[in-house]
Amino acid sequence: MTGDTGPTIAVAHQSIGDPSYVRDLVADRARVCFGPLTNDAEAAALTDGADAVIVTLQPLPAERIQAFAPSVRVIGRAGVGLDTIDLDAAAARKIAVVHEPTYATTEVANHACALTLAVSRRIVDAGAMVSGGWGLCSDLGPMPDLSTCTLGVIGFGAIGRAYASRMRPFFDCVIAFDPATPHRDILDSGAHPARTLEEVLGTSDVVSLHLPLLPETRGIVGSAQLGAMRRGAILVNVSRGGLVDEVALADALTEGHLSGAGIDVFEKEPLPADSALRAAPNLLMTPHVAWFSDQASNRMAGWTMDDVICLLENRPVTHGRLAVGAEWLTVEAKG
Ligand code: NAD
Repeated sequence: MTGDTGPTIAVAHQSIGDPSYVRDLVADRARVCFGPLTNDAEAAALTDGADAVIVTLQPLPAERIQAFAPSVRVIGRAGVGLDTIDLDAAAARKIAVVHEPTYATTEVANHACALTLAVSRRIVDAGAMVSGGWGLCSDLGPMPDLSTCTLGVIGFGAIGRAYASRMRPFFDCVIAFDPATPHRDILDSGAHPARTLEEVLGTSDVVSLHLPLLPETRGIVGSAQLGAMRRGAILVNVSRGGLVDEVALADALTEGHLSGAGIDVFEKEPLPADSALRAAPNLLMTPHVAWFSDQASNRMAGWTMDDVICLLENRPVTHGRLAVGAEWLTVEAKG
């Protein structure tokens, strides 16, 4: 614990960086305690006497939220996706939930660009050739000229849009599918709006996913969708592992239907030792680090702590978004 005044905030281990940095951030505003949060017993112990709890990707299903101490009024999700939290269970317990949708938009878009270029230019294989002595272009496998290719972007929110604008100069054309984004906005960004997911899959040489994991988007790229992609196409996923059927992806790579993939997120993290993806060829994997930069890490900590304290003081959040309100919040804070 630190600080003598203010609310008590329980922070799940490995949520928001270095504990001493987090303590210094709010030294005069809150007490902070750290602990593991991997099961219901730990949830009860960590939140004992706490006003709020902060997590990143630690799953909060209904039973874990029910195990929180009755004093908990706010959950701070240090990050973007809400797929790991049972929001209905939080609402039922009158616990407000705040998340930080914009703390790493640039980093995630940049990481998707890096994967797209590294996979399409076969950077890892080419680097390994030099490490092993030297190599021949003919041993690198298929190498598309991106300026003749179509880039398909599925999900045209903050990250999809930032990714598309960065990649636009590399490609002949960009096509985007997002049922909630007006076609005019997609056209204004220099991309062509697609009417269906299938249209993007069937016309793109590179497909990149930038949509949230929701019950209706789970498994949205399964074996049928991978089969509908162009032969030799590349798949990039920095959004959520649950969007893609990983066994079907491994098969598509092994059979050569896809020429490569760049993946930052997985159905189970850490990636299990027996995952089919580990044996798949032409697959560049990173361990859910798309969000990371020194600055984004500090932003995530600072913004989450700040917004959680604002809510506990019944003030509107200033950095993130309120995903679940609660009756005890004032009308202003709910807005
Ligand atoms: P956002 O809410 O701004 O955009 C998501 C877009 O997806 C929205 O425009 C929405 O309309 C669209 N969408 C929803 N369902 C769709 C569907 N069925 N088909 C096509 N589009 C659909 O979110 P964002 O900031 O762009 O983030 C996107 C995702 O990136 C997050 O949900 C999160 O899972 C992921 N993310 C990953 C990392 C990482 O480190 N790998 C970090 C941050 C965010």
